[in-house]
Amino acid sequence: MRERTDELVRREIFKAEVRRWAERIGVEVREIHLRPMRRKWASASRRGRLTFSTDLLNEPSVFQREVIVHELLHLKLGNGSHGKLFRTLVKAYLQQY
Ligand SMILES: [Zn+2]
Repeated sequence: MRERTDELVRREIFKAEVRRWAERIGVEVREIHLRPMRRKWASASRRGRLTFSTDLLNEPSVFQREVIVHELLHLKLGNGSHGKLFRTLVKAYLQQY
């Protein structure tokens, strides 16, 4: 029981972090999901739906932040982009906070 509570709390904290970053970056997030994912950490749909791997909850917060910023920038710039602008912005946001 205790463990399940912790898991729920960690999920909520994670989602709150995503919303905080969405505000900073200036993108609208419609849905945030956490579920087991096999081959990646996260995905973003054009309509503002973000899905993150539940495995992320066990990763250090620095890494969580990187994944969050990465996905939110996909909402901002499109899914195909990992170009120079994309990488520059990821770095800039992570350094700023
Ligand atoms: Zn990407």
